[in-house]
Amino acid sequence: MIDTHCHLADEVFAGDLDAVVARAKDAGLTGAVCILAAGDAGERVRAGRVRELWCHVASAIGVHPHQAHEVAGKPGQAEAWIRDAAAADLAVCAVGEIGLDYHYDFSPRDVQRDVFAEQLAVARAMGLPVVIHTREADEDTFAMLAADAQGLPGVFHCFTGGVDRARRALDLGFHLSLAGILTFPKATDLHEVAAFAPADRLLIETDSPFLAPVPFRGKRNEPANVARVAARLAELRGATVDTVVAQTTANALQLFSAQALARVDTPRASML
Ligand SMILES: [Zn+2]
Repeated sequence: MIDTHCHLADEVFAGDLDAVVARAKDAGLTGAVCILAAGDAGERVRAGRVRELWCHVASAIGVHPHQAHEVAGKPGQAEAWIRDAAAADLAVCAVGEIGLDYHYDFSPRDVQRDVFAEQLAVARAMGLPVVIHTREADEDTFAMLAADAQGLPGVFHCFTGGVDRARRALDLGFHLSLAGILTFPKATDLHEVAAFAPADRLLIETDSPFLAPVPFRGKRNEPANVARVAARLAELRGATVDTVVAQTTANALQLFSAQALARVDTPRASML
């Protein structure tokens, strides 16, 4: 079982990271993708600590739409940060999370679009998949992916919404990653998506420290809780938990590259 989206290098985990990682392993996790904010030097240092404690953690790095204003007028800065991280010992397996957020609008929308487009190009040049964050920006997000991401593998992280929206993402070739929202009783649209989506296009995540699933809503989330997403997904698909875990793990390894997630000094078969 792989948590394909967590912010394990966030400072909120710094005090008890050992225990958080131990609980993840106890819960049956065999790996995780740690999302890093490009340009955040402190988080980068903590990411090294995460990988010391848990060698099956790979990294995704990118300039989040919230941060896009930080690189406005600095073409090449996002790329420089991503390439620098990829050259370091962080097992970079994706560019992300990148995209558009018109809910918070922390960066001007034209800047968000420019920075998103630049990073789609970087991902393509580096042969890496993308992790997409999009909020209240569907038309621009789908238009940009259709124009600039043809053939580029990737995932809509923390997918929300219904079957129509899911179909749009799937038609672009993207995976859907389901988070703790799936456990919310009122998320009926998402429940339909969980039952509808092709088995080979689904991933699971926590988005830790955010979005804790039932019964931990409002608390700090952590990778161990991805097991609850897997359990709910199994219920909704009428499948066994083992089946859902095997399928979503295979999907994660295929999308993010097994090598990055199993970048250890033991044989890579140990990953599974
Ligand atoms: Zn995130």
